[in-house]
Amino acid sequence: MSSDPIQEAPIPSFPVSEIAPTVQRLRQTFDSGRTRPLAWRKEQLEGVLAFGREQSEALVAALQADMGKPELEARTSDIGQISVEAKLALKNLKKWTRPEGAGWMPVLGRSFVQRDPLGVVLIIAPWNYPVGLLVSPMIGALAAGNAMVLKPSEVTPRTSAALAELLPQYIDTDAIAIVEGGVEETSALLEERFDHILYTGNGSVGRIVMEAASRNLTPVTLELGGKSPCIVDRTADLAVAGRRIAWGKFMNAGQTCIAPDYILVESSVEEALIESIQKAVHEFYGDDPGQSSDYTRIVNRRHHERISKLMTGHSVVFGGSSDPERCYIEPTLLRGVPPTAPIMQEEIFGPVLPVLTIENLDEAIQFVNGREKPLALYLFSQDSAAEEKVLSETTSGGACMNGTILHIGNSKMPFGGVGPSGMGAYHGRHSFETFSHRKAVLRRGIRLDPKMMYPPYTKRKTDMIKKMF
Ligand code: NAD
Repeated sequence: MSSDPIQEAPIPSFPVSEIAPTVQRLRQTFDSGRTRPLAWRKEQLEGVLAFGREQSEALVAALQADMGKPELEARTSDIGQISVEAKLALKNLKKWTRPEGAGWMPVLGRSFVQRDPLGVVLIIAPWNYPVGLLVSPMIGALAAGNAMVLKPSEVTPRTSAALAELLPQYIDTDAIAIVEGGVEETSALLEERFDHILYTGNGSVGRIVMEAASRNLTPVTLELGGKSPCIVDRTADLAVAGRRIAWGKFMNAGQTCIAPDYILVESSVEEALIESIQKAVHEFYGDDPGQSSDYTRIVNRRHHERISKLMTGHSVVFGGSSDPERCYIEPTLLRGVPPTAPIMQEEIFGPVLPVLTIENLDEAIQFVNGREKPLALYLFSQDSAAEEKVLSETTSGGACMNGTILHIGNSKMPFGGVGPSGMGAYHGRHSFETFSHRKAVLRRGIRLDPKMMYPPYTKRKTDMIKKMF
């Protein structure tokens, strides 16, 4: 990233009066049956794959202009989601959509589960990985045969504009609409009836989405955030832990839903862990991370101010410098932070890492369980009993042992939160399932028709039933 200030761009918009007709048009397309055949789904998925491949330069440029994302991170953690998810869906489309046998009493017929598309779905994305978090759920919705509205985040306006301009060139715009905009447009969208809403973002808006959805009994998937703890015990390999924590925390300048939010370290290894994290930060970003092309900016002034406020008044071990003009905050480590401080109450979502000490694993578990269930939980330890204890005594959306972030990369695993960190999950087959209805079907033969189940209910029939149940 250059040291140029990130210029504000105009907030994208969409004529609110066109929202209802747009949704109506999509519903007509869905009702016509056009989106159901596998051939349509395959064509759309191939279009999305081609979009990711052919427009990656434009997307990287937009992500850099919006928040100074390094090209490699833009290509791996954001745009890269397109090819991973689209290829997986294309490879497995037939398998996923095949009716699933559900063996029961053959005398009654053949049972199977058939996946139906839900209808017209709404996908609302946030700004921190603005391409992947819009297109990845879209892929699941397409594989399942739905029509949809995609709502990119207005907070990254250039990426929103690039998506709205380029993606329609690759997809069926009678079935897929992109509605740009902010609160006004999203509120108007939420007035409409959808068959599913997948929302990614903060929990306050998650509540607004769920309340609006409830008016039409629309099911929701909420991909939210929270404070993901990172526990380090005295057996941990501290060199590895320092590097992996620094990577997971400071990529995208901490603006990652599953970034380690704070550290709970056994006091005997606190000093060594801090040294190791500091060393890693220096190796990654050099003497001045502000000059590093590998370090992202805070997305805007509002978030810069929010994070700066959270940092204020705490003891800085390293980092701490900041420049609102450039939306820059240095990778920062705090120590001695009281658990009651505001920075320990709300999700930090920035490059600031408080380190708190604990005396043993029980204390760490108690600390985690005394707070809202997190989206991710990290443990660095070489003690398998500790690992088992933490996994069995805590609940989180996902977990990674001796690592950070990477568990999200395995599309075979569901990605989602629990409790206040979210509901429902997606990625890979789980995305397809999220946007499908599992219809239970019994196909009866007509030749066998046992009289046993029909009236009159004779004593003989009743005696037989008594033996059966
Ligand atoms: P954001 O500000 O981009 O908001 C998300 C979406 O909600 C946007 O499309 C926005 O237009 C819409 N929105 C905002 N206010 C609204 C309102 N009043 N009514 C209706 N819609 C509204 O993103 P954000 O919320 O700042 O995102 C950061 C949060 O998202 C963090 O908490 C982070 O942990 C979480 N997050 C979760 C995941 C996940 O997969 N679980 C991924 C990324 C981010």
